Amino acid sequence: MTTSFKEFAELCRKVKNTSRRTEKTAIIAEFLRKLTPTEAEIAARLLVGRIFPEYSELTLDVGFSMIRNALANISPQALLFEEPVTIEEVYQILTKIAEAKGENSRRRKERLLTSLLSRLSEAEREYLIRSIFGEVRIGASEGLILEAIAKAVNTKLDTVRRAYMFLGDLGDVARIALEGGEEALSRVTLTLFRPVKPMLAEMSYSIREVLREFGNIAAFEYKYDGVRVQIHKKKDLIRIFTRRLSEITQSLPDIIELVRRNVNADEVVLDGEVIGFKDGKPIRFQDLVKRVRRIRDVWKLIGKIPLELRLFDILYLNGKVLVDEPYERRWKLLESVVKDKNMLAKRIVTGSVEEAERFFEESISEGHEGLMAKCLKSKYTPGTRGKNWFKIKPADTIDVVIVAAEWGHGRRRGWLSDYYLAVRDENTGEYLVVGKTFKGLTDDEFREMTKKLLELKIAEEGYVVKVIPKIVVEVAYSEIQQSPKYKSGLALRFARIVRIRYDKSPEDITTLGELKKRYEMQFRYKAKVF
Ligand code: AMP
Repeated sequence: MTTSFKEFAELCRKVKNTSRRTEKTAIIAEFLRKLTPTEAEIAARLLVGRIFPEYSELTLDVGFSMIRNALANISPQALLFEEPVTIEEVYQILTKIAEAKGENSRRRKERLLTSLLSRLSEAEREYLIRSIFGEVRIGASEGLILEAIAKAVNTKLDTVRRAYMFLGDLGDVARIALEGGEEALSRVTLTLFRPVKPMLAEMSYSIREVLREFGNIAAFEYKYDGVRVQIHKKKDLIRIFTRRLSEITQSLPDIIELVRRNVNADEVVLDGEVIGFKDGKPIRFQDLVKRVRRIRDVWKLIGKIPLELRLFDILYLNGKVLVDEPYERRWKLLESVVKDKNMLAKRIVTGSVEEAERFFEESISEGHEGLMAKCLKSKYTPGTRGKNWFKIKPADTIDVVIVAAEWGHGRRRGWLSDYYLAVRDENTGEYLVVGKTFKGLTDDEFREMTKKLLELKIAEEGYVVKVIPKIVVEVAYSEIQQSPKYKSGLALRFARIVRIRYDKSPEDITTLGELKKRYEMQFRYKAKVF
């Protein structure tokens, strides 16, 4: 039995046209139930606007202009002669498009896309294109699809959710559900050399609040500004994965060596952060990334940027999955397998706000980002950002003026929602861009901001509306980086609007000189390599 893409498009239309969640779930469950496991795998991803699993190296690289060209090249009669396209065929052709590399690859991609689109009806095209752009807009979230999968195979939702936690991919969950139902799903667990998404933290600016949340005692660890790694080891075979689950073993021979020499366990999965030091200070993130992304001639950089490891969790040890063990016990096990204690994250366990604050200052003055607060009793929940881990960072803010804005898409369609932020060059009076952000405003503020910016409009080019520099916003950021992209030479990392400063005028904002000073200040504690 094969299912056509037409049936999939019809499903999407139906789901879109019902507003009730339970009905949406029921319709999707009914559809999935009739599919083969492979079809269900493909359909589950398409429904949330994904073609390939997140851990896959494949990317489509199909942009708006390619779609436009492909649509323009379709001959009007094309549909009349073709067999209906199946879901599987669509997936196979998309895979071919993703695999087209090298010379003429754009042409080949476009040709494949044209021939695929020419075999689809208008409605089918619409949903394919929506999936490609990751905006299906039928009101089916990941959570809803998980419910539909549970319903389709008559399984407890918890079993499906737990399988998803380990697999990190809706397609894989759907396939396994259809292949083996509840029994197969409940067998899904953490296995060696199959990385899981790391556990994440929420933000907090207050140690006191964190302690209250955790029942007046918590572990506080240094928060290192490095690259998150998950290390899988079986005897001498060691492989390393990033937080997005791609493998970076090749780039880290020195870390492999460290693990081989210092980790005393036959089979283990460890969670930690890779960092680098120069002259006793942690090196800045952008230099570190250069080193970690390097695949060829890694040895050339090893001397220049030696790496170190700070481990903070253990998920698996000698055949036993540890994610359901409390943090405190996992830490003890971690300690017991790591010979060199320098390789562990620096930490204290305390209920005292003062002691934790002192520890925070210590972390900052050593050039790290702040602290991670962890609840002693908490489980390790892969892929989720919950209230068991809190990151505590100092908030650094500056005042900038908005000089341009982009029209938003998705949920922010109709609003000018992505803002170009500028500081003032005190020598020329010019406003120079130092970053962009769409973070921090409420819906009401977006609406109001859109109205105000349109009143200040100077010109519109494509998506970008240039405006008279008038509206001042206070933005928080995590770091100032050098930037070849901006004339200012500097860029804010992770900028987020804290508030709109109607009380300030563009003359009052942070100057380029001040920003440069702040940039240099970072190196009181941090080292530059390049
Ligand atoms: P953020 O990227 O700001 O959401 O902060 C979470 C990240 O901090 C994690 O993904 C890790 O890469 C990093 N990190 C640094 N030190 C620690 C630590 N001690 N425990 C957990 N995560 C840490």
